[in-house]
Amino acid sequence: MASTNLFDSRFALFLAPLALAASTTLVGCAGDDVSTLGDEASVDAESAAGLGLGARGAEVRGVYEYLRRYGYYQNEELAEHYADWTPAVSREPADPELFDEALEEGVRLYQAQHGLPVTGVVDAATQRIMQMPRCSHPDYYDPPSVVPTLDIDPYTHFGGTWSSTALTYRFANYTSDFAQASVRSAIENALFSWRSSSSLSFSEVSSGENISFGFYTGSHGCSSAFDGSSGVLAHAYSPGGGLGGDVHFDDAEGWSSAYLETVALHEVGHALGLGHSTDSAATMYAYYTGNDTSLADDDRAGIWSRYAAYASPSGCGWLSSGQGLGAEQSVWSCDGRFQLKFQGDGNLVLYQGGSPLWASGTNGKGGDRAIMQEDGNLVIYKSTGQPVWASGTAGSSNYYANLAVQNDGNVVIYRSGGGVAWASNTCCH
Ligand SMILES: [Zn+2]
Ligand SMILES: [Zn+2]
Repeated sequence: MASTNLFDSRFALFLAPLALAASTTLVGCAGDDVSTLGDEASVDAESAAGLGLGARGAEVRGVYEYLRRYGYYQNEELAEHYADWTPAVSREPADPELFDEALEEGVRLYQAQHGLPVTGVVDAATQRIMQMPRCSHPDYYDPPSVVPTLDIDPYTHFGGTWSSTALTYRFANYTSDFAQASVRSAIENALFSWRSSSSLSFSEVSSGENISFGFYTGSHGCSSAFDGSSGVLAHAYSPGGGLGGDVHFDDAEGWSSAYLETVALHEVGHALGLGHSTDSAATMYAYYTGNDTSLADDDRAGIWSRYAAYASPSGCGWLSSGQGLGAEQSVWSCDGRFQLKFQGDGNLVLYQGGSPLWASGTNGKGGDRAIMQEDGNLVIYKSTGQPVWASGTAGSSNYYANLAVQNDGNVVIYRSGGGVAWASNTCCH
């Protein structure tokens, strides 16, 4: 849930204590020795004013309750809602109102998860993040259970993957906050964004869907109740049968089109098998930081790690939108004279016989696939998700554009509605 507007005005209240459920036995995985990790040198002056070891009182309890809610300590609701969930911290604070080492361990893990300096002190920067609205999916949840560590990739996995890349969806109901047609487009735009960056496709069905979208308030039949306006915005289930893949929005939020698309983009990521990212620019960052309806490189790297990235072409002549070339793969003109090859050195080259006619000039830049995206852009990406070259033809007028390797030796990206979006200008051989 990325945005440039990181901090908003919701600053006034400190963490509201949540209803306390009895915490019982201490089960779970062993925690790392976090005291040796983290960048102590980056601690800024704000830290001195925060809550740290030895602090006592209601604010300390508020921190504990907040971390407990998001997966750091024993929580029966999370255990019921998320298969194989275990708390990120293996021990409980002895007294919820005393800031002890068990609470400090949770604060350190929380700071690492959300891209904050790892100080173990609830400083002003940490408080600001804790006050922002977010997804209710617990942090560090990566079944079948992993030992939390501060050494984490930005993107994470959540549950399994769908066995098919042709997925179905259904609208269980709609919010009354704005027009139904616009609700549909906001959510379908979110699906479109994931489709444009993966081999996945989505089609609407009236029953038997993989992913359902619904709006609910309070207790709504799943074990995780919504909390009214702000706070938790939505949640989603990882791929699977039953509730698997389902996305629930808190209907108390007061949705608008861009707001809903931003949150849907994040929740669909969960429904496809992605967990939270530590990259604050990523869609899969746990917090809502303002409306942003585009995926970040980290999100693309995440979805590629879960699903084969794009189908390879079959037959000659065309690289259709949604298809791509991996190392040493080619698409040929139908007369067999011209070969557009994505080489193992990362260079995309058009050959006639052994002679190159055109090249992307990306030899050695680390690209590992060339993809004809559904947004009309031909892009060479690194496995990390970072683009190293693009035809520069992304855009709504080029959606579903296809690339042709023509018998005249010209490589052309044709717009879906006709017309040329890009050409290698190697005609006519
Ligand atoms: Zn989430
Ligand atoms: Zn729900």
